[in-house]
Amino acid sequence: MTTTLEDRHRQISDHISKSIIPLINTMDMSLVAALTTTDRAARTTTALAWRGRTRADAVRFTHAADIAERMGDLFTTASERTRLTVDHLDLIWSRIHRHLVTVPASLVSDVRTSLDTAVEPAVSDWLDDHPGTGTVNFADLRDHLDLILADIAPGLTNATARAEREAANLTRRGNVLTLTCGDTIMAAGIDNALTDRAKNILTDLRKIRDNNPESTPELPTRAEVKAQVLLDLLGDNPDSLAVTVNLFRTTTDGVHGTGTAYSPDIGWLDVDTADRLESAARTSPNGRIRTLPDSPDDLTVTEAYKFPVLVQIAAEARDGHCRFPGCTVPATRCEKDHIENSPHTDPTSDGATSIDNLENLCPEHHRAKTLGIWKAASPDRGLTIHWTGPLGEKYTTYASGPTAPYIRLRAETQSEEPEPEDPPRQE
Ligand SMILES: [Zn+2]
Repeated sequence: MTTTLEDRHRQISDHISKSIIPLINTMDMSLVAALTTTDRAARTTTALAWRGRTRADAVRFTHAADIAERMGDLFTTASERTRLTVDHLDLIWSRIHRHLVTVPASLVSDVRTSLDTAVEPAVSDWLDDHPGTGTVNFADLRDHLDLILADIAPGLTNATARAEREAANLTRRGNVLTLTCGDTIMAAGIDNALTDRAKNILTDLRKIRDNNPESTPELPTRAEVKAQVLLDLLGDNPDSLAVTVNLFRTTTDGVHGTGTAYSPDIGWLDVDTADRLESAARTSPNGRIRTLPDSPDDLTVTEAYKFPVLVQIAAEARDGHCRFPGCTVPATRCEKDHIENSPHTDPTSDGATSIDNLENLCPEHHRAKTLGIWKAASPDRGLTIHWTGPLGEKYTTYASGPTAPYIRLRAETQSEEPEPEDPPRQE
């Protein structure tokens, strides 16, 4: 009985490693090959629309396509033998491009070509020296690439290390902020300062607790106190908040919000948080509250090129995020694009400056549309957008912000009522 089960597991695992994984890798590589046939300027955009995954994923495929183009022989043999995956190609890209940061723009192309020329045969030889089936170990490839690069361009790799020591960045994923300090010394310095502050606070808390033995509240951990010290420094409460949070909330009296609120940057908030932020917006000198009309029909249509502020905000509430397939950039950080070109920029077109002809696009996707690589059209005043890609592929996106369901409902109710052939529109 046990043997049978073990056999079954072995069969499954065999099937996965011999058939499924190579199939996935092969399909990924076909996608990479297809990407090399598309417009270079819009590859990330295209990969995102194709895969509908994250931007990071699309960038990975773009890098892989770049390497496939630059190192054709390596790409062909490695994908035939499924030795390298998209991640390996992305690794080759990033290990090379890491060193181009310090190179003056006018020399980047030459330096890259000479690095490519050395890396491609070296990786091919290395693959030959490490025969076997399956994909190669990621860390081994990384180490080998770094060794090749340090060997052929020692001055350059030193300059990169110096530049990286001076670089810092901060990223966010959900409620996690990751701060990368320029170097370990800086990170340790900040951490030590926070630890010292946290220790003092914990000592005080412990004293308070010991003096009140009947109440024994649980003390926070040192890590929790350190985080709070840092958040306090940054202004972690609505009154001292130094950043802008855009919120959309329903109102029944035209003045006060009720229920949950939506923020394009965060998503839906609980009622308490929504109340707290709304009251901060009312009392803080930088706070601002605007009331959107019930219907998009009540918004101004202008002859000007620029969309009026209230129209922009109403479109953010309707769209939620960038309208390009797969993109998640919050509408509040998007550019306001005329779906059909405005006569101000294109004399052959007469796209109105109205909410019906406004779509939120992040700078990257706005560019892809302006360049004409991707085309957009809306059959229903901006609620639905039909996209056509560089190879003629078609995608549709729908407005998904907090007001979209209401606008859609209103449009449906209106279209159900018998109306004259040409319904008069308020302009
Ligand atoms: Zn976008």
